[in-house]
Amino acid sequence: MSKREVKQNNKHPIKDDNGEIRERRVIRYEQFDVNAAESYFSQEIRETDWINLGKSKFGEDFADWKFKCPKCGTVSSGRDFLNKGMAAEKSRVVCIGCAWKADNFFGTFGKGLVLNRADESKIEVFPFAD
Ligand SMILES: [Zn+2]
Repeated sequence: MSKREVKQNNKHPIKDDNGEIRERRVIRYEQFDVNAAESYFSQEIRETDWINLGKSKFGEDFADWKFKCPKCGTVSSGRDFLNKGMAAEKSRVVCIGCAWKADNFFGTFGKGLVLNRADESKIEVFPFAD
């Protein structure tokens, strides 16, 4: 992971164990210990790097990519969603088992990844399943 600019005022940098600066969300609950709460927030990665990572794990077809729900552990692929008449892209943000969504208040409990997109928006996604 490389150093990142802090572009949004709802973010602040925290140094990790290697002394690298990582961007994390501000802790919302004042009673949380910052160091303890750090693990609740997902690492950030450029979306292009994430796409390359996914291709290296599962191949070129996104429908074959597998994701693990951070809440119930269900593993699903884009093809599972297609088979239920839903968009394959949902597999990275919605659990087909418990319907947990990566964009809810608790996100992915720090188990997923926050993708930095080309337009500078961010999206939190489920972790890859393996
Ligand atoms: Zn689930």
